[in-house]
Amino acid sequence: MRTTVERRDVGPRDVLIEIRYAGICHSDIHTVRGEWGPIAYPQTVGHEIVGAVTEVGAEVTRHAVGDRVGVGCMVNSCRDCANCQAGQEQYCLAGNTGTYTAVDRDGTITQGGYSTHIVVDQDFVLRVPESIPYEQAAPLLCAGITTYSPLSHWKAGPGTNVAVVGLGGLGHMAVKIAAAMGAEVTVLSQTLGKKEDGLAFGAKHYYATGDPATFEKLANTFDLIINTVSAPVDMGAYLSLLRLDGTLVAVGAPPEALPVQVFSLFGNRRSFAGSSIGGIAETQEMLDFCAEHGIASEVEVIDGDAVNEAYERVLKSDVRFRFVIDIDSIR
Ligand SMILES: [Zn+2]
Ligand SMILES: [Zn+2]
Repeated sequence: MRTTVERRDVGPRDVLIEIRYAGICHSDIHTVRGEWGPIAYPQTVGHEIVGAVTEVGAEVTRHAVGDRVGVGCMVNSCRDCANCQAGQEQYCLAGNTGTYTAVDRDGTITQGGYSTHIVVDQDFVLRVPESIPYEQAAPLLCAGITTYSPLSHWKAGPGTNVAVVGLGGLGHMAVKIAAAMGAEVTVLSQTLGKKEDGLAFGAKHYYATGDPATFEKLANTFDLIINTVSAPVDMGAYLSLLRLDGTLVAVGAPPEALPVQVFSLFGNRRSFAGSSIGGIAETQEMLDFCAEHGIASEVEVIDGDAVNEAYERVLKSDVRFRFVIDIDSIR
């Protein structure tokens, strides 16, 4: 539904961005449907935002009018706590300010990127490299950093075996980034339906998790498993695929608790971990890494009036591989 949301006036440290494209993340759907708790309407979602700077405040030094920029899942943090000081603003101990549905410093509710403009503090605005087309850059701001951060933290690279569970919006970026980092990448998907895509994105191997033989064959194989699936999975089965000191990282979030047998962690000294987006400096590093390696998101560009239909298709995993809204269609 089309409506009008007010943006604050451009403050001394703010950047006004004319939005060009906004990606559709699964989180947007959970949020607007109230599945992650009640929200105040009207609410605009979208936290994969790219566009051009059209105005900057008097104290802004990091961005200039005309720059290609992006905004991801957060637009502020306390900047003072240990985690902010460590450049891990996503883990701000006072809670980072989400790009939508969060209470902003001025008490208003933040509004996301399915809109024509946004005003954001310069420190939370990223530079989008020239070589990445706007529409393919948008999903990097959530799907890209959500997968880059754990791959970087757990040191995916030459000589490491990485498995990616699920080949959707997050999964396809995990495969591209892990392969670009030099890791040997395996996709674990329910069926072999997207095998050609997975191999084209840089995976060396592709297995169907619907086939029990897969788990026998791949026992004790991986240094790192990135689980992008937000449905509950058999934790024991996936943990059994980790080799010595291997880690299974959850980046998709099922609402239910997942039972884990501690015995399945004893063998091979395995770890079960979680990871949430990435810090601002790391997000910039990810964008520059993608530009350097010539990778970006696979997208289907849609008009603003096709969002509801796109949501239905996302829920059916029927998208190659991320929907991006052409914001000119709502201008
Ligand atoms: Zn997201
Ligand atoms: Zn903080």
